[in-house]
Amino acid sequence: MKSIRITLVLLLLSIVTTVCAATPKYIFYFIGDGMGLGQVQALRTYFKTIDDEAAPLMHFYDFPVAGIVTTYSADSDVTDSAAAGTALACGSKTRNGMIGMDADTVALTSVAKRMKAAGRGVAIMSSVCIDDATPAAFYASRPSRGDYYEIARQGAASGFDLLAGAYFRDPYGIKARTAGNVFTEFQANGYTIMRGRNGYNIPQDAQRVLWLDNDSTTENCIGYAVDGDNGDMTLPVMVRTGIDFLYKKYPRGFFMMAEGGAIDHMGHGNDPAGVLGELREFDAAVREAYEFYKKHPRETLIVITADHETGGLSMGADGVYAVDMSIVEPVNISKGAFAQEMRSLMNKNGKSTTWEQVKSLMAQHLGLGADVPLTAGEEGHLMIQFQKVLDNRSEDVKTLYQNFDELTDDIFKLFSAKCHFGWTTTGHSGNPVPIFAIGAGAEKFDNRGWIDNTQIPLMLRGMVK
Ligand SMILES: [Zn+2]
Repeated sequence: MKSIRITLVLLLLSIVTTVCAATPKYIFYFIGDGMGLGQVQALRTYFKTIDDEAAPLMHFYDFPVAGIVTTYSADSDVTDSAAAGTALACGSKTRNGMIGMDADTVALTSVAKRMKAAGRGVAIMSSVCIDDATPAAFYASRPSRGDYYEIARQGAASGFDLLAGAYFRDPYGIKARTAGNVFTEFQANGYTIMRGRNGYNIPQDAQRVLWLDNDSTTENCIGYAVDGDNGDMTLPVMVRTGIDFLYKKYPRGFFMMAEGGAIDHMGHGNDPAGVLGELREFDAAVREAYEFYKKHPRETLIVITADHETGGLSMGADGVYAVDMSIVEPVNISKGAFAQEMRSLMNKNGKSTTWEQVKSLMAQHLGLGADVPLTAGEEGHLMIQFQKVLDNRSEDVKTLYQNFDELTDDIFKLFSAKCHFGWTTTGHSGNPVPIFAIGAGAEKFDNRGWIDNTQIPLMLRGMVK
């Protein structure tokens, strides 16, 4: 009898520990938009090459659980951010372009909505616009990702505690051709609206918070990391602030989705230093969650994945068996900001702009022609492109988020060739993406082989009763 009792107690104990281990109170869901294996390997290579100030701390790629995730959508082997965001938020495949709906336009319930219904705090944050595809998939259901105004209105009605990002793409319904104002809708739903640095200190009595960037020069992004700290919003600060706000407010725990949205922008632009800047920022944001995890290791789960890969990035290109991070490291300008400087130079000097002036711009920002020597052939090619721009014969090279003059585009192609970053597309690729996890419930993602992106929110959902 006694031994049966002991066995029963042991059995109960083991059930309790299993359930506890798989029921994290605090869930962090990090999504690197456009962060494929090539991007993560770029970050690893970077930290291997460059003096690593964060060395004693863990990088997200060092987390104990890692796996591979397929990203295809319902109608394509190459997904867009809408279908991939829907898969990661709602656990269902859909067609490219659709948000929070399945392929038959049936509205889906995201894991964030389920967390809210279970009494948890919810924060949805992105370094790009808060109505962009990835964050939108967590609170909205629309047949088109371009329905920005309606998406923002659904954000206002979400009841989520914190929505944070760069701005809205259509806050007044101008593109939707319907007059309105999403800000008043947020306020009517109990949201305090904060801008830029003011958001660093969210008042504890704030019921709900909408936190937007204050820098109108980069409306689609809180500012690209490689262009330097704008003293305003950054992803790490957003994560830290979100933790403070939700931890005190919700003893039952919280769910936080934080997107590194501009990794994708830089991938579309095939911009090596730009991509690395965003990856480092994303890594630093995960580290904020990791610091929290260290204080609450048995109750915290951190999951990091990506919606898809952007750029078809490889480490090593054109038959060269090497990567030269040391020439990427000093670069402190994005391709978009460089194109802007080129435009200012040309506008200021017009037809009297000289090749020497362009050369000094390249040397100053990219080291090209200075620390990174150019062959006569390479310089000759760029001079031809320069002449085309001078003669107004240059056609803009269009990528999803930015357009570049042909000269800037070729300068960056040359830069990629010098550091041996290979790109196969200015769009997305169908390559798989990684998943990393640590903490309570992380074992659920271990030893699974290749998983599909739709499985991730289903697993997260299963951990919360
Ligand atoms: Zn993209």
